[in-house]
Amino acid sequence: MDFSFSKADEEFRLMVRDFFEREYPRDIVEKMARGHSPSKADYQKSERALSAKGWLAVNWPKADGGTGWTANQKYIFDEELERAGALNVVPMGLLYVGPVIYTFSTEEQKRRWLPGILDSTTFWAQGYSEPGSGSDLASLQCAAVRDGDDYIVTGTKIWTSLAQHADWIFCLLRTDNSGKKQEGITFLCIDMKTPGIAVNPIITIDGKHSLNSVTFEDVRVPVANRIGEEGKGWTYANYLLGHERTSYAHVAGKRKQLADIRMTAENVEADGARLIDDPAFRVKLADLETRLDALELTVLRTLASVAEGGAPGNESSILKVIATELAQDITELGMEAFGPYALPAFPDSAAPLWTDNAPLPPGAAPAVARYLGARAQSIYGGSNEIQKNILSRRILGL
Ligand SMILES: Cc1cc2nc3c(=O)[nH]c(=O)nc-3n(C[C@H](O)[C@H](O)[C@H](O)COP(=O)(O)OP(=O)(O)OC[C@H]3O[C@@H](n4cnc5c(N)ncnc54)[C@H](O)[C@@H]3O)c2cc1C
Repeated sequence: MDFSFSKADEEFRLMVRDFFEREYPRDIVEKMARGHSPSKADYQKSERALSAKGWLAVNWPKADGGTGWTANQKYIFDEELERAGALNVVPMGLLYVGPVIYTFSTEEQKRRWLPGILDSTTFWAQGYSEPGSGSDLASLQCAAVRDGDDYIVTGTKIWTSLAQHADWIFCLLRTDNSGKKQEGITFLCIDMKTPGIAVNPIITIDGKHSLNSVTFEDVRVPVANRIGEEGKGWTYANYLLGHERTSYAHVAGKRKQLADIRMTAENVEADGARLIDDPAFRVKLADLETRLDALELTVLRTLASVAEGGAPGNESSILKVIATELAQDITELGMEAFGPYALPAFPDSAAPLWTDNAPLPPGAAPAVARYLGARAQSIYGGSNEIQKNILSRRILGL
Protein backbone atom coordinates (compact mmCIF):
# COMPACT_ATOMS: atom_id res chain seq x y z
CA MET A 1 0.00 0.00 0.00
CA ASP A 2 1.20 3.51 -0.78
CA PHE A 3 0.31 5.87 2.04
CA SER A 4 2.02 8.97 0.66
CA PHE A 5 -0.19 11.93 -0.16
CA SER A 6 -0.67 13.26 -3.68
CA LYS A 7 0.32 16.78 -4.79
CA ALA A 8 -3.38 17.76 -4.69
CA ASP A 9 -3.61 16.47 -1.11
CA GLU A 10 -0.56 18.49 -0.11
CA GLU A 11 -2.10 21.62 -1.67
CA PHE A 12 -5.27 20.91 0.28
CA ARG A 13 -3.14 20.66 3.43
CA LEU A 14 -1.64 24.11 2.82
CA MET A 15 -5.13 25.60 2.35
CA VAL A 16 -6.36 24.07 5.63
CA ARG A 17 -3.19 25.11 7.48
CA ASP A 18 -3.62 28.66 6.24
CA PHE A 19 -7.19 28.72 7.57
CA PHE A 20 -6.12 27.57 11.03
CA GLU A 21 -3.26 30.05 11.13
CA ARG A 22 -5.17 33.10 9.89
CA GLU A 23 -8.93 32.66 10.33
CA TYR A 24 -9.52 30.28 13.24
CA PRO A 25 -10.15 32.06 16.62
CA ARG A 26 -6.73 32.62 18.28
CA ASP A 27 -8.23 33.07 21.74
CA ILE A 28 -9.43 29.46 21.70
CA VAL A 29 -6.02 28.10 20.68
CA GLU A 30 -4.39 30.10 23.49
CA LYS A 31 -6.96 28.98 26.06
CA MET A 32 -6.43 25.31 25.13
CA ALA A 33 -2.64 25.69 25.34
CA ARG A 34 -3.06 27.00 28.89
CA GLY A 35 -4.99 23.84 29.76
CA HIS A 36 -8.37 25.45 30.47
CA SER A 37 -11.61 23.61 29.71
CA PRO A 38 -13.61 24.94 26.77
CA SER A 39 -16.95 26.58 27.62
CA LYS A 40 -20.09 26.02 25.57
CA ALA A 41 -19.47 29.44 23.97
CA ASP A 42 -15.93 28.30 22.99
CA TYR A 43 -17.27 25.15 21.36
CA GLN A 44 -19.82 27.17 19.44
CA LYS A 45 -17.34 29.82 18.34
CA SER A 46 -14.94 27.15 17.14
CA GLU A 47 -17.61 25.11 15.37
CA ARG A 48 -19.17 28.15 13.74
CA ALA A 49 -15.79 29.19 12.34
CA LEU A 50 -15.57 25.74 10.74
CA SER A 51 -19.23 25.77 9.70
CA ALA A 52 -18.80 29.14 7.95
CA LYS A 53 -16.21 27.43 5.72
CA GLY A 54 -18.50 24.40 5.23
CA TRP A 55 -15.87 22.35 7.10
CA LEU A 56 -17.77 21.23 10.18
CA ALA A 57 -19.40 17.95 9.14
CA VAL A 58 -16.19 16.54 7.77
CA ASN A 59 -17.36 12.93 7.68
CA TRP A 60 -20.89 13.44 6.41
CA PRO A 61 -21.95 12.83 2.80
CA LYS A 62 -22.25 15.99 0.71
CA ALA A 63 -25.99 15.41 0.18
CA ASP A 64 -26.58 15.72 3.92
CA GLY A 65 -24.47 18.85 4.36
CA GLY A 66 -21.03 17.28 4.69
CA THR A 67 -17.83 18.14 2.91
CA GLY A 68 -17.75 15.22 0.49
CA TRP A 69 -13.98 15.09 1.11
CA THR A 70 -11.93 12.01 0.35
CA ALA A 71 -10.60 9.87 3.19
CA ASN A 72 -7.17 11.48 2.74
CA GLN A 73 -8.59 15.00 2.89
CA LYS A 74 -10.51 14.21 6.08
CA TYR A 75 -7.40 12.79 7.60
CA ILE A 76 -5.31 15.82 6.59
CA PHE A 77 -7.96 18.15 7.99
CA ASP A 78 -7.92 16.37 11.37
CA GLU A 79 -4.14 16.49 11.38
CA GLU A 80 -4.07 20.22 10.73
CA LEU A 81 -6.77 20.94 13.30
CA GLU A 82 -4.81 19.19 16.02
CA ARG A 83 -1.48 20.54 14.82
CA ALA A 84 -2.91 24.05 15.20
CA GLY A 85 -4.07 23.27 18.75
CA ALA A 86 -7.69 23.99 17.74
CA LEU A 87 -10.68 22.46 19.51
CA ASN A 88 -11.94 19.09 18.38
CA VAL A 89 -15.64 19.18 17.51
CA VAL A 90 -18.11 17.98 20.13
CA PRO A 91 -18.62 14.41 18.92
CA MET A 92 -22.14 13.68 20.20
CA GLY A 93 -23.95 15.55 17.41
CA LEU A 94 -21.46 15.52 14.56
CA LEU A 95 -19.85 12.12 14.94
CA TYR A 96 -22.41 10.03 16.80
CA VAL A 97 -26.08 10.90 16.33
CA GLY A 98 -25.69 12.81 13.04
CA PRO A 99 -24.73 9.67 11.05
CA VAL A 100 -27.56 7.73 12.73
CA ILE A 101 -30.07 10.45 11.74
CA TYR A 102 -28.99 10.74 8.12
CA THR A 103 -28.82 6.95 7.79
CA PHE A 104 -31.92 5.71 9.62
CA SER A 105 -34.39 8.56 10.18
CA THR A 106 -37.24 10.03 8.13
CA GLU A 107 -36.84 13.04 5.83
CA GLU A 108 -38.82 15.10 8.31
CA GLN A 109 -36.50 14.13 11.17
CA LYS A 110 -33.49 14.98 9.04
CA ARG A 111 -34.91 18.44 8.32
CA ARG A 112 -35.62 18.89 12.00
CA TRP A 113 -32.30 17.86 13.54
CA LEU A 114 -29.48 18.02 11.01
CA PRO A 115 -29.39 21.83 10.40
CA GLY A 116 -28.87 22.56 14.12
CA ILE A 117 -25.89 20.19 14.18
CA LEU A 118 -24.49 21.67 10.98
CA ASP A 119 -24.50 25.25 12.24
CA SER A 120 -23.66 24.34 15.86
CA THR A 121 -26.81 25.80 17.35
CA THR A 122 -27.95 22.47 18.82
CA PHE A 123 -25.87 20.53 21.35
CA TRP A 124 -26.46 16.80 21.83
CA ALA A 125 -25.67 14.39 24.66
CA GLN A 126 -25.47 10.59 24.50
CA GLY A 127 -27.75 8.76 26.95
CA TYR A 128 -26.66 5.14 26.81
CA SER A 129 -24.97 4.10 30.10
CA GLU A 130 -26.93 3.56 33.29
CA PRO A 131 -25.81 2.95 36.88
CA GLY A 132 -26.21 -0.83 36.41
CA SER A 133 -25.51 -1.03 32.66
CA GLY A 134 -22.21 -0.02 31.12
CA SER A 135 -20.24 -2.84 29.52
CA ASP A 136 -23.38 -4.94 29.47
CA LEU A 137 -25.28 -2.10 27.83
CA ALA A 138 -28.08 -4.30 26.50
CA SER A 139 -29.20 -4.88 30.10
CA LEU A 140 -30.33 -1.23 30.33
CA GLN A 141 -33.61 -0.58 32.14
CA CYS A 142 -34.39 3.14 31.72
CA ALA A 143 -37.94 2.65 30.42
CA ALA A 144 -40.09 4.17 27.69
CA VAL A 145 -43.74 3.13 28.01
CA ARG A 146 -46.12 3.88 25.14
CA ASP A 147 -49.04 6.22 25.97
CA GLY A 148 -50.96 7.23 22.83
CA ASP A 149 -48.73 9.37 20.64
CA ASP A 150 -46.09 9.65 23.36
CA TYR A 151 -43.66 7.53 25.34
CA ILE A 152 -43.33 8.11 29.09
CA VAL A 153 -39.65 7.87 30.03
CA THR A 154 -38.50 6.99 33.56
CA GLY A 155 -35.04 6.11 34.87
CA THR A 156 -31.44 7.29 35.10
CA LYS A 157 -28.59 7.70 32.63
CA ILE A 158 -25.06 8.22 33.92
CA TRP A 159 -21.61 9.40 32.74
CA THR A 160 -23.42 11.64 30.27
CA SER A 161 -20.71 13.86 28.76
CA LEU A 162 -21.53 17.57 28.46
CA ALA A 163 -25.22 17.03 29.31
CA GLN A 164 -25.05 20.37 31.15
CA HIS A 165 -24.74 22.05 27.71
CA ALA A 166 -27.12 19.78 25.81
CA ASP A 167 -30.30 20.90 24.06
CA TRP A 168 -31.13 17.31 23.05
CA ILE A 169 -30.17 13.87 24.25
CA PHE A 170 -30.34 10.65 22.23
CA CYS A 171 -31.18 7.68 24.41
CA LEU A 172 -31.40 3.92 24.30
CA LEU A 173 -34.52 2.98 26.24
CA ARG A 174 -36.24 -0.24 27.26
CA THR A 175 -39.62 -0.66 25.53
CA ASP A 176 -39.95 -4.41 25.97
CA ASN A 177 -38.57 -6.85 28.54
CA SER A 178 -40.10 -10.04 27.19
CA GLY A 179 -37.52 -11.31 24.67
CA LYS A 180 -33.74 -11.19 24.22
CA LYS A 181 -32.38 -8.12 26.00
CA GLN A 182 -31.06 -6.61 22.73
CA GLU A 183 -34.51 -6.76 21.14
CA GLY A 184 -36.59 -4.52 23.39
CA ILE A 185 -34.44 -1.39 23.04
CA THR A 186 -35.66 1.76 21.31
CA PHE A 187 -33.72 4.84 20.12
CA LEU A 188 -35.41 8.10 21.17
CA CYS A 189 -34.33 11.74 20.84
CA ILE A 190 -35.43 13.85 23.79
CA ASP A 191 -35.60 17.64 24.12
CA MET A 192 -33.67 18.49 27.31
CA LYS A 193 -36.22 21.22 28.15
CA THR A 194 -39.00 18.65 28.61
CA PRO A 195 -40.40 18.71 32.18
CA GLY A 196 -39.12 15.89 34.43
CA ILE A 197 -35.43 15.93 33.33
CA ALA A 198 -32.70 16.78 35.86
CA VAL A 199 -28.95 17.03 35.15
CA ASN A 200 -26.61 16.35 38.09
CA PRO A 201 -22.86 17.13 37.77
CA ILE A 202 -20.09 14.59 38.42
CA ILE A 203 -16.65 16.17 38.93
CA THR A 204 -13.79 13.93 37.76
CA ILE A 205 -10.26 13.35 39.09
CA ASP A 206 -8.85 15.94 36.65
CA GLY A 207 -10.95 18.62 38.34
CA LYS A 208 -13.25 19.04 35.34
CA HIS A 209 -17.02 19.08 34.99
CA SER A 210 -17.71 17.11 31.87
CA LEU A 211 -19.75 14.20 33.27
CA ASN A 212 -23.28 14.10 34.66
CA SER A 213 -26.09 11.84 35.63
CA VAL A 214 -29.43 12.59 34.00
CA THR A 215 -32.68 11.53 35.63
CA PHE A 216 -36.02 11.18 33.85
CA GLU A 217 -39.21 11.29 35.87
CA ASP A 218 -42.34 10.64 33.81
CA VAL A 219 -40.89 12.54 30.84
CA ARG A 220 -43.34 12.73 27.93
CA VAL A 221 -41.61 12.19 24.56
CA PRO A 222 -43.51 12.22 21.25
CA VAL A 223 -43.36 8.96 19.26
CA ALA A 224 -42.32 11.24 16.36
CA ASN A 225 -38.92 11.53 18.13
CA ARG A 226 -38.19 7.83 17.68
CA ILE A 227 -35.46 6.91 15.21
CA GLY A 228 -36.42 3.89 13.13
CA GLU A 229 -38.54 1.10 14.50
CA GLU A 230 -39.52 0.39 18.08
CA GLY A 231 -37.31 -2.35 19.54
CA LYS A 232 -34.59 -1.94 16.88
CA GLY A 233 -32.48 0.62 18.76
CA TRP A 234 -29.65 -1.86 19.33
CA THR A 235 -28.98 -2.06 15.58
CA TYR A 236 -28.69 1.73 15.27
CA ALA A 237 -26.56 1.88 18.43
CA ASN A 238 -24.06 -0.62 17.05
CA TYR A 239 -23.74 1.35 13.84
CA LEU A 240 -23.05 4.45 15.91
CA LEU A 241 -20.47 2.78 18.12
CA GLY A 242 -18.40 1.85 15.06
CA HIS A 243 -18.24 5.56 14.19
CA GLU A 244 -17.53 6.46 17.81
CA ARG A 245 -14.59 4.09 18.14
CA THR A 246 -12.84 5.23 14.97
CA SER A 247 -12.86 8.79 16.31
CA TYR A 248 -10.33 8.10 19.07
CA ALA A 249 -7.07 8.11 17.11
CA HIS A 250 -6.10 11.83 17.32
CA VAL A 251 -2.77 11.11 15.66
CA ALA A 252 -1.70 14.73 15.14
CA GLY A 253 -2.60 15.69 18.72
CA LYS A 254 -0.43 12.85 19.95
CA ARG A 255 2.41 13.93 17.64
CA LYS A 256 2.21 17.42 19.08
CA GLN A 257 2.33 16.07 22.64
CA LEU A 258 5.37 13.91 21.80
CA ALA A 259 7.08 16.87 20.11
CA ASP A 260 6.51 18.99 23.23
CA ILE A 261 7.90 16.20 25.40
CA ARG A 262 10.95 15.83 23.16
CA MET A 263 11.60 19.57 23.10
CA THR A 264 11.39 19.78 26.90
CA ALA A 265 13.66 16.76 27.34
CA GLU A 266 16.22 18.33 24.98
CA ASN A 267 16.20 21.75 26.60
CA VAL A 268 15.42 21.47 30.29
CA GLU A 269 18.22 20.42 32.62
CA ALA A 270 17.75 18.71 35.96
CA ASP A 271 20.82 18.24 38.21
CA GLY A 272 23.01 19.39 35.33
CA ALA A 273 21.82 16.76 32.86
CA ARG A 274 19.32 16.84 30.02
CA LEU A 275 16.57 14.23 30.21
CA ILE A 276 17.09 13.33 26.54
CA ASP A 277 20.59 12.08 27.45
CA ASP A 278 19.09 9.47 29.76
CA PRO A 279 19.05 6.19 27.72
CA ALA A 280 15.99 4.85 29.57
CA PHE A 281 14.03 7.98 28.68
CA ARG A 282 15.11 7.81 25.04
CA VAL A 283 13.94 4.19 24.78
CA LYS A 284 10.49 5.16 26.10
CA LEU A 285 10.23 8.11 23.74
CA ALA A 286 11.30 6.04 20.72
CA ASP A 287 8.81 3.31 21.67
CA LEU A 288 5.94 5.83 21.77
CA GLU A 289 6.97 7.50 18.51
CA THR A 290 7.06 4.08 16.79
CA ARG A 291 3.69 3.07 18.19
CA LEU A 292 2.25 6.34 16.95
CA ASP A 293 3.48 5.59 13.42
CA ALA A 294 1.80 2.17 13.66
CA LEU A 295 -1.43 3.79 14.86
CA GLU A 296 -1.36 6.22 11.96
CA LEU A 297 -1.06 3.37 9.44
CA THR A 298 -3.96 1.54 11.10
CA VAL A 299 -6.12 4.67 10.86
CA LEU A 300 -5.25 5.10 7.18
CA ARG A 301 -6.18 1.47 6.54
CA THR A 302 -9.54 1.94 8.29
CA LEU A 303 -10.21 5.15 6.37
CA ALA A 304 -9.45 3.40 3.11
CA SER A 305 -12.03 0.70 3.86
CA VAL A 306 -14.64 3.34 4.81
CA ALA A 307 -13.86 5.23 1.58
CA GLU A 308 -14.62 2.05 -0.34
CA GLY A 309 -18.16 2.16 1.01
CA GLY A 310 -17.92 0.11 4.20
CA ALA A 311 -18.94 1.33 7.65
CA PRO A 312 -16.16 1.15 10.23
CA GLY A 313 -16.37 -2.47 11.32
CA ASN A 314 -14.67 -4.63 13.90
CA GLU A 315 -11.33 -3.04 13.09
CA SER A 316 -12.54 0.07 14.92
CA SER A 317 -12.08 -1.99 18.11
CA ILE A 318 -8.38 -2.42 17.27
CA LEU A 319 -8.09 1.31 16.79
CA LYS A 320 -9.83 2.07 20.05
CA VAL A 321 -7.50 -0.16 22.07
CA ILE A 322 -4.18 0.94 20.54
CA ALA A 323 -5.11 4.64 20.40
CA THR A 324 -6.25 4.88 24.00
CA GLU A 325 -3.37 2.82 25.44
CA LEU A 326 -0.95 5.04 23.53
CA ALA A 327 -2.70 8.20 24.78
CA GLN A 328 -2.27 7.01 28.34
CA ASP A 329 1.41 6.13 27.87
CA ILE A 330 2.19 9.47 26.18
CA THR A 331 0.64 11.47 29.00
CA GLU A 332 2.58 9.32 31.49
CA LEU A 333 5.89 10.11 29.79
CA GLY A 334 4.74 13.75 29.76
CA MET A 335 4.59 13.68 33.55
CA GLU A 336 8.17 12.42 33.60
CA ALA A 337 9.38 15.09 31.15
CA PHE A 338 7.55 18.09 32.56
CA GLY A 339 8.32 17.04 36.13
CA PRO A 340 7.89 19.93 38.54
CA TYR A 341 6.47 22.14 35.77
CA ALA A 342 3.41 19.91 35.70
CA LEU A 343 2.74 20.23 39.41
CA PRO A 344 -0.09 22.77 39.31
CA ALA A 345 -2.55 20.18 38.21
CA PHE A 346 -5.73 22.02 37.55
CA PRO A 347 -5.70 25.17 35.41
CA ASP A 348 -9.46 25.49 35.99
CA SER A 349 -9.17 25.64 39.77
CA ALA A 350 -9.89 28.86 41.65
CA ALA A 351 -6.28 29.25 42.81
CA PRO A 352 -3.84 27.63 40.35
CA LEU A 353 -0.23 27.61 41.50
CA TRP A 354 0.94 29.49 38.41
CA THR A 355 -0.58 32.30 36.38
CA ASP A 356 -1.35 32.22 32.67
CA ASN A 357 1.75 34.39 32.09
CA ALA A 358 4.22 32.04 33.76
CA PRO A 359 6.98 30.76 31.41
CA LEU A 360 6.30 27.03 31.10
CA PRO A 361 7.58 24.51 28.55
CA PRO A 362 4.91 23.95 25.86
CA GLY A 363 2.54 21.18 26.89
CA ALA A 364 3.31 21.49 30.61
CA ALA A 365 0.21 23.46 31.62
CA PRO A 366 -2.35 20.81 30.70
CA ALA A 367 -0.03 17.86 31.51
CA VAL A 368 -1.50 16.62 34.79
CA ALA A 369 -5.14 17.12 33.83
CA ARG A 370 -4.35 15.33 30.56
CA TYR A 371 -2.62 12.47 32.36
CA LEU A 372 -5.53 12.00 34.75
CA GLY A 373 -8.18 12.54 32.06
CA ALA A 374 -6.54 9.99 29.75
CA ARG A 375 -7.21 7.23 32.33
CA ALA A 376 -10.87 7.41 31.26
CA GLN A 377 -10.05 6.74 27.62
CA SER A 378 -9.81 3.00 28.12
CA ILE A 379 -13.25 3.05 29.77
CA TYR A 380 -15.52 5.16 27.61
CA GLY A 381 -16.86 4.10 24.22
CA GLY A 382 -16.86 0.52 25.50
CA SER A 383 -13.97 -0.42 27.81
CA ASN A 384 -10.77 -1.86 26.32
CA GLU A 385 -11.42 -5.23 27.96
CA ILE A 386 -14.72 -5.37 26.08
CA GLN A 387 -12.99 -4.36 22.83
CA LYS A 388 -10.53 -7.22 23.35
CA ASN A 389 -13.47 -9.61 23.81
CA ILE A 390 -14.90 -8.33 20.50
CA LEU A 391 -11.54 -8.78 18.78
CA SER A 392 -11.07 -12.30 20.05
CA ARG A 393 -14.59 -13.36 19.02
CA ARG A 394 -15.21 -11.53 15.76
CA ILE A 395 -11.72 -11.12 14.27
CA LEU A 396 -9.72 -14.02 15.73
CA GLY A 397 -12.76 -16.32 15.84
CA LEU A 398 -11.83 -17.60 19.33
C1 LIG B 1 -15.10 10.13 30.71
C2 LIG B 1 -16.27 9.26 30.36
C3 LIG B 1 -17.24 9.75 29.50
C4 LIG B 1 -18.37 8.98 29.21
N1 LIG B 1 -19.35 9.53 28.42
C5 LIG B 1 -20.49 8.82 28.21
C6 LIG B 1 -21.58 9.42 27.50
O1 LIG B 1 -21.51 10.56 27.06
N2 LIG B 1 -22.71 8.70 27.36
C7 LIG B 1 -22.82 7.41 27.83
O2 LIG B 1 -23.88 6.80 27.64
N3 LIG B 1 -21.83 6.83 28.53
C8 LIG B 1 -20.66 7.52 28.73
N4 LIG B 1 -19.63 6.93 29.45
C9 LIG B 1 -19.83 5.61 30.05
C10 LIG B 1 -19.00 4.49 29.46
O3 LIG B 1 -19.48 4.10 28.21
C11 LIG B 1 -18.98 3.34 30.47
O4 LIG B 1 -18.28 3.80 31.61
C12 LIG B 1 -18.33 2.10 29.93
O5 LIG B 1 -19.13 1.50 28.96
C13 LIG B 1 -18.03 1.06 31.05
O6 LIG B 1 -19.18 0.80 31.80
P1 LIG B 1 -19.19 0.89 33.41
O7 LIG B 1 -18.59 2.21 33.80
O8 LIG B 1 -20.56 0.60 33.88
O9 LIG B 1 -18.19 -0.22 33.90
P2 LIG B 1 -18.50 -1.78 34.09
O10 LIG B 1 -19.26 -2.29 32.93
O11 LIG B 1 -19.10 -1.98 35.45
O12 LIG B 1 -17.05 -2.40 34.05
C14 LIG B 1 -16.15 -2.36 35.17
C15 LIG B 1 -14.87 -3.07 34.77
O13 LIG B 1 -15.12 -4.45 34.47
C16 LIG B 1 -14.66 -4.78 33.16
N5 LIG B 1 -15.59 -5.72 32.52
C17 LIG B 1 -16.94 -5.65 32.50
N6 LIG B 1 -17.46 -6.66 31.80
C18 LIG B 1 -16.42 -7.41 31.35
C19 LIG B 1 -16.30 -8.59 30.54
N7 LIG B 1 -17.37 -9.20 30.04
N8 LIG B 1 -15.06 -9.06 30.26
C20 LIG B 1 -13.95 -8.43 30.72
N9 LIG B 1 -14.00 -7.31 31.51
C21 LIG B 1 -15.22 -6.81 31.80
C22 LIG B 1 -14.63 -3.46 32.41
O14 LIG B 1 -13.70 -3.48 31.35
C23 LIG B 1 -14.22 -2.49 33.50
O15 LIG B 1 -12.82 -2.50 33.65
C24 LIG B 1 -18.50 7.69 29.75
C25 LIG B 1 -17.51 7.19 30.62
C26 LIG B 1 -16.41 7.96 30.93
C27 LIG B 1 -15.37 7.40 31.87
